Amino acid sequence: MSSLNERAELEAAIIAAVDRDSPLLIAISREIHQNPELQYKEFKAAALLTSHLERRGFEVERAAADIETAFVATAPSKASAGQPTIAILAEYDALAGLGHACGHNLIGTAALGAGLALREVSERLPGRVQVVGCPAEEGGGGKVLLTNRGVFDEVSAAMMFHPLDSSGIHADSLAATTIEIHMHGKPAHAAANPEDGVNALDAIIQTYNGINALRQHLRSDTRIHGIITNGGQAPNIVPKYASAKFRVRAADRKYADETLAKLMRCAEGAAMAAGAKVEFNIIEESRYDNMISNPTMEGIFADTLDKLGIPWADLKESGLGSTDMGNVSQKVPSIHPYLKIAPRGVSPHTDAFREAAISDEGQQAMLNAAKAMALTALHLLLDPAKLAAAQQEFAATKAK
Ligand SMILES: [Zn+2]
Repeated sequence: MSSLNERAELEAAIIAAVDRDSPLLIAISREIHQNPELQYKEFKAAALLTSHLERRGFEVERAAADIETAFVATAPSKASAGQPTIAILAEYDALAGLGHACGHNLIGTAALGAGLALREVSERLPGRVQVVGCPAEEGGGGKVLLTNRGVFDEVSAAMMFHPLDSSGIHADSLAATTIEIHMHGKPAHAAANPEDGVNALDAIIQTYNGINALRQHLRSDTRIHGIITNGGQAPNIVPKYASAKFRVRAADRKYADETLAKLMRCAEGAAMAAGAKVEFNIIEESRYDNMISNPTMEGIFADTLDKLGIPWADLKESGLGSTDMGNVSQKVPSIHPYLKIAPRGVSPHTDAFREAAISDEGQQAMLNAAKAMALTALHLLLDPAKLAAAQQEFAATKAK
């Protein structure tokens, strides 16, 4: 299989397929952009992507992992049971009030383009190719649920691309968790008999102040940010209930969890001081793990960009956000590279970035991403030693 000629022929077929499909892919990226859908409600985008995959012979599992707008599409293959599966991940959710200001229309379409290109050669490959439709990246944690529910259990390596104002391959992200704090006190007339009340709002405010004091003693990569979501009903009633919501982040899961435990002790201490009762709700899909970007896969992707003539550089600023791709990266070797779609300084989640996500530069980056991901997947399947190296690195990082 791995004769040089055959490899070159497969690569050429992939590049030609993306070129041939480019009008279709651009049209789909524009259609998703013009119909922004919020997390877990991406019905049109999921239907659009799956219909094109199905039309080209993919076997499509809709509502994967019991999530209506998730899907797993598997290209036809003659692979045997023991051979690897490479997953290319699509995102397609938009932001409330801002539309596709994170460019997920390009992410979804690039994954589709890569999948369709690999489909041209999929029956000649020693392994399988999947396009996995991942809803709700913007805070909904679609990949957290997909990972927890086993969608990546049989996957050997995974990748996606994200648009940005510069191109680069390695990026870190923070582990994060959102917690709701529910404080229960006892109501009383705030003037006539305040001595009979237990003030839940006081307990929430002491929690907030305790967390402010805690920050001084945390590692500098830690972030804690929160709001008070309920502060009582009326000034003349001692609040019987108050609540807050916090997001805790750190460079690794262990430290993020330790910090979360400290935050919970702030709330417990505050509850004790006020005589209130505290309840916690740690939101499962909010547990974004930190990204482990796989060096071997990064190297293959970098070589591919170089071959395609796509410039890239080390990303300077990284690590401040969180992505649910982190959870996938803790499950299988993964990469989350970026391609430039906007002028430097135009950051995601802005009106200008939304315009970039439908610009010529954005569409070109999407086509480039489709080629680069498809060629990277091809390389991993044709080169078992490389895939084994990626998996060994992954295992070594996990063992630390
Ligand atoms: Zn995004």
